[in-house]
Amino acid sequence: MSGDGLSGPVFRGRRRGLMLVLSSPSGAGKTTLSKRLISLNPDLVLSISATTRAPRPGEVEGQDYYFMTPKEFEEKIAAGEFFEWAKVFDHYYGTPKAPIEEALDEGRDVVFDIDWQGARSLAKEAPDDVVRVFILPPSLALLRDRLKKRKQDSDDIIKSRMNRAKSEIEHWNEYDYVVLNDDFSRALEKLSEILHAERLKRVRHPWLEGFVEELMKEE
Ligand code: 5GP
Repeated sequence: MSGDGLSGPVFRGRRRGLMLVLSSPSGAGKTTLSKRLISLNPDLVLSISATTRAPRPGEVEGQDYYFMTPKEFEEKIAAGEFFEWAKVFDHYYGTPKAPIEEALDEGRDVVFDIDWQGARSLAKEAPDDVVRVFILPPSLALLRDRLKKRKQDSDDIIKSRMNRAKSEIEHWNEYDYVVLNDDFSRALEKLSEILHAERLKRVRHPWLEGFVEELMKEE
């Protein structure tokens, strides 16, 4: 934890938690970046989304996603259990509300690995708390290579994922920050800098008002 006194544990609970939204086309390294950022910052919590798509090999229920049927998902939409939800690649994806509210109330920061639709909804819902970062790949050829290397998808699926990637990138200028992931450690460093600077913003420290008031009474 940095020694600035504002983001440290002393003020936990008094600082408003922030919502760090990361978007990028699939294959641009966003998931790896967010996991690494969280392992470096114990105060960060990853929002685990719900989805109706099938788990990929190695994905773990409750760690990567909450996997559910379309019927279960639609019941949760009706019950108002999602902060936001969207349809991506014909599947539902959504952010469960309860764990986010709990984390923010505790003054913890939450990372979201969601698409532009989710980023837009969250920013509308909580404009003061949301920080949006778009991760750009250095080239589309690199994305195509990564999708091909997964060897899970047919040519048609790869084509539709590439189209989807382009339509995700079209929204890059709706974001507060853009990080080019041409070098993993540099991109991670930039993300950490964004997080630390955003934590220091005045609006996230409502306690300052009372503090300054007391300070001014001193002499
Ligand atoms: P994938 O199936 O590759 O894990 O994710 C496909 C896309 O859905 C990615 O762009 C990912 O960021 C997005 N996504 C994952 N979870 C959510 C969510 O809860 N809400 C929204 N709006 N998008 C999500």
